[in-house]
Amino acid sequence: MSLSPRPGILDIAPYVGGESKAEGANRVVRLASNENPLGPSPRAIAAYVAEQENLHRYPDGGALALRRALAEAEGLDADRIVCGAGSDELIALLVRAYAGPGDEVLYSEHGFLMYGISARTAGATPVTAPEVALTADVDGLLARVTDKTRMLFLANPNNPTGSYISEAALRRLHAGLPPSVLLVIDAAYAEYVTAADYPRSAALVEEADNVVMLRTFSKIYGLAALRLGWAYAPAAVVDVLNRVRGPFNVSQAAQAAGLAAIADTDHIAKSVAHNTKWRSWFSEVAAKAGAEPMPSAGNFMLLRFRGGQAEAESVLADLKRRGILVRGVAAYGLANCLRVTIGTEDEMRATAEALQAVLR
Ligand SMILES: *Cc1c(COP(=O)(O)O)cnc(C)c1O
Repeated sequence: MSLSPRPGILDIAPYVGGESKAEGANRVVRLASNENPLGPSPRAIAAYVAEQENLHRYPDGGALALRRALAEAEGLDADRIVCGAGSDELIALLVRAYAGPGDEVLYSEHGFLMYGISARTAGATPVTAPEVALTADVDGLLARVTDKTRMLFLANPNNPTGSYISEAALRRLHAGLPPSVLLVIDAAYAEYVTAADYPRSAALVEEADNVVMLRTFSKIYGLAALRLGWAYAPAAVVDVLNRVRGPFNVSQAAQAAGLAAIADTDHIAKSVAHNTKWRSWFSEVAAKAGAEPMPSAGNFMLLRFRGGQAEAESVLADLKRRGILVRGVAAYGLANCLRVTIGTEDEMRATAEALQAVLR
């Protein structure tokens, strides 16, 4: 018998990240990965640099100082927090721990790609539910729960659509799930949301036994390179994650930078204000240029093109020729759309100008 991986592994389409290089362009505008254009807090950078003295030491495997700081900042219980090397690691660990061959992992049609990839990696079956108006649909999701469903992933707000579901909708979703199904709320963009009806997912985690919230330092905290995320979970799930994770899964540099980043609330407020302002500015300009911007609660925006996939592809290529990298989202079932991260003022003005030129 020849060497082969477990069934399902070769069905995985490898994750292709946002582009970061444009050949021949004088300057590159990177709006393909939902990074914070303002970068991290200077305090986080200083904390990261200070860690160079300790590179021979193992990190604190329990990330205690970071968990305490997170708990303090967010009004949470430090014992319910588990840190990971990005929330991607926590997604993978949760699936590995709770689903396997014969089990179903449910998420919505245009949900984050890592849910399906992690499900297949664990040998489980990914199941998707249709969305309504590019938004997760509670009834559609509940209709696809079977006795094989072990987990439901909900990105709220979702990437790449930018849509979110309200507190009332989230509670209805949770109430409709059997207690044996783990509801994982991926709140990677929570800090950017300004809507009053956006759910406080942590409260649901504390009330229920089957809800986990995931958060990340990759987006508003501007620390994507360091790979740092965290889960807020019931005690039993915390226990499981602590059994399956690597003992030193989060580097000390990441812990130190994260700790400093949390303390810089001005930087976070500045990042939210910048995002809100330029998201709405770009939405208006993109609509005038002839694209269809979708409402977004995150630090990015989905643009739909009336000319469908052909137009989306040609706009992607034309922008790239001008050194502007945005994200094609065909892998999310949205071939007629592009996702644009909200960048600096200069970057948004350049992107708007380019969009007007290419759509003319
Ligand atoms: C960016 C993103 C993540 C974060 O990934 P990290 O591994 O923490 O960098 C998680 N979920 C969604 C929906 C995202 O868009």
